[in-house]
Amino acid sequence: MSFLVLDHLQKSFGTTKVVHDFNLSVDKGEFVSFLGPSGCGKTTVLRMVAGFETPSEGQIVIDGQDVTRLRPNQRQIGMVFQSYALFPNLTVAENVGFGLKVAGVPRAERGPRVAEMLDLIGLPDLGGRYPWQLSGGQQQRVALARALAPRPRVLLLDEPLSALDAKIRVSLRNQIREIQQQLGITTIFVTHDQEEALSISDRIVVMHKGIADQTGTPSDIYNSPATHFVAGFVGTLNRFEAEVVDAASGHVRVAGAGILLERPLPPGKVVLAARPESLQIAPEGIPAEITGVEFLGSVQRLRARVDGAEVVLDRFNAPGEELPRPGARVHLAAARASWLVLPE
Ligand code: ATP
Repeated sequence: MSFLVLDHLQKSFGTTKVVHDFNLSVDKGEFVSFLGPSGCGKTTVLRMVAGFETPSEGQIVIDGQDVTRLRPNQRQIGMVFQSYALFPNLTVAENVGFGLKVAGVPRAERGPRVAEMLDLIGLPDLGGRYPWQLSGGQQQRVALARALAPRPRVLLLDEPLSALDAKIRVSLRNQIREIQQQLGITTIFVTHDQEEALSISDRIVVMHKGIADQTGTPSDIYNSPATHFVAGFVGTLNRFEAEVVDAASGHVRVAGAGILLERPLPPGKVVLAARPESLQIAPEGIPAEITGVEFLGSVQRLRARVDGAEVVLDRFNAPGEELPRPGARVHLAAARASWLVLPE
């Protein structure tokens, strides 16, 4: 049985339903991200798991125990917020030990536990400082230590990296993942940043308007998006209107060019899609006109027009390589397996 189960969760505020029938089973030790645009309901689901919001319908089960009606402090959950939310008048060590004190852990046990947590986050010598004497990244590590100190059953992270600058964000997300794996703690991480979710999760739930559009591994979500929303929200996608010539063999026509997908398709029209790194300039294929070239460092992004629509192609930077210039007429192709077929 799964360690954390969210079963048919719903939440309304007044007459507005913001979470519709949300279902998820998380294994012990799994790291699951909720990814979606602002307002899609990810924080509301997280707050229901924490016990800060009561579901309008549905059930939350942790390790076989129904916690739906329990208060937050009865759930054995650790939570980290975007704003760190450290107690400003307490030292780092007192902040980290706070949950232990509240839980009535004797002082003699608290000290070693706090030291262990400070070691875990890589700040063993900063226990005597106050939050204002720390950088943002250090404060968030302390918040993580504080959440983990009472050995929670589940760790909940609500956009914990959003307030930090780009470099710190990347190093801290790697550190969070390492600590999570080291402890084997079941974790839910809320973010609106797709790169963050793709880089650290075992699975991602892509949320849209209060429902889970797709739940899958990062590579499932990126390579096989189940809906137009997921396809558009995660990564960049080029879409082509395609006419199905032969449904059984998957023979389609795009801008006059034939493509054989070798998979069954519905008859009529479909939308064919390819990631920028899958599209290539080829001797034959979809006719296109290059409209621009951007140098982005490790990749070069070519823009091209196909039938009036703009598409983009990414190529790894290869010094000395001649790239087509704006105005050049080319053909575009992609490996058969890399074409996505989206519902119309
Ligand atoms: P963000 O990234 O902006 O926090 P989110 O995906 O986490 O977005 P939620 O914070 O869960 O979204 O909010 C979902 C919807 O519920 C929003 O439309 C929000 O305005 C609404 N909402 C959240 N909390 C309340 C509340 N206490 N009362 C009324 N409406 C609320």
